[in-house]
Amino acid sequence: MSKATILIELQQLQTGFQQALAQATQPASLEQVRIKFLSRQGLIPEFLKQIKDLSPEDKIKFGPQLQEFRKTSEQEFSTKQALIASQNIPVQNIQTRDAQTQNIQISSKINLNLTLDPSSELPNQKFGSLHPYTQVIEKLENIFISMGFRIAEGPELETEFNNFTALNIPDDHPARDSQDTFWLRLPQQLMRTQTSPVQIRELSKQELPVAVIAAGRAYRNEATDASHDCVFMQLEGLLVDKNISVANLLGTLKTCLRAIFEREDLDIRVRPGFFPFVEPGLEIDMLCPFCTAGCSVCKRTRWIEIVGAGLVHPNVLRACGVDPQEYSGFAFGFGLTRLVMLKYGINDIRLLHSGKLDFLTQF
Ligand SMILES: [Zn+2]
Repeated sequence: MSKATILIELQQLQTGFQQALAQATQPASLEQVRIKFLSRQGLIPEFLKQIKDLSPEDKIKFGPQLQEFRKTSEQEFSTKQALIASQNIPVQNIQTRDAQTQNIQISSKINLNLTLDPSSELPNQKFGSLHPYTQVIEKLENIFISMGFRIAEGPELETEFNNFTALNIPDDHPARDSQDTFWLRLPQQLMRTQTSPVQIRELSKQELPVAVIAAGRAYRNEATDASHDCVFMQLEGLLVDKNISVANLLGTLKTCLRAIFEREDLDIRVRPGFFPFVEPGLEIDMLCPFCTAGCSVCKRTRWIEIVGAGLVHPNVLRACGVDPQEYSGFAFGFGLTRLVMLKYGINDIRLLHSGKLDFLTQF
């Protein structure tokens, strides 16, 4: 065998092997490739047997190249074998993915090294979904942004001044009681009991008019049951401008509730309510979107209590350096947790905070 023929034959064999390997997509066809090329009487070992007929110089020259060919062919075969095997293995069996060494170990039974192909699709892929909170918050934010509001944020660790004093909640108000509030060992610091301190932060900037909403966690030191948790979500809204009235508040809330529950005929009703930071204070109920004649959600009353709201109390405006003679505004707070539970028919608040996959994959 001459040098030229060796190289040509090597090239042909290499091409033939790679084509056959590429065409094999099932374990059976892959086995055919193994028998044809790699088995004891296969084309590759037969070809390599010719090394022994080479002259000593050619052995030195071509030997390593031919051995290398055998090694890479076997490696390519193993890679393909693992790929085909992985297509029949559930995703959960992938134990580690070490991107640095670009090796993947698959299943407890098969333990193979293969090249990582980030573009390949694994069978039985599971896709994540947005948490029900995130879905409702995104929807609410879109609705309010379309009405000209902007998104505001505030810290969950708040000062006593922002959480109580500036919101016209006097020193002797029961809300300040240690049974309701998580006080910290820092002076006058607490976990916010409502999202309303964001109103104070926004008003104190004194960039008027202001129209913001803020969604976030609030904390109450109370026992946990199906409808209470020490952490819950609220959505706060604030609009301060000249000549703002209850009519602006009701129009805004009606638009928002109709969009959330996708019901154009969703009506609201207004009752007087007391919140220290608004005057007048209003409790707003919406017509039950789930029934026409009473159901368990609305406790057969047809109305569901959903928002606490009112016109911003002059004391709150003053505490933030805004002149109540010149400006007025409305504020409202959705129990966001309650809204999410209503929208999705969730009957236990603890499920929302559990992180359990069998619950979360339903959304
Ligand atoms: Zn109902």
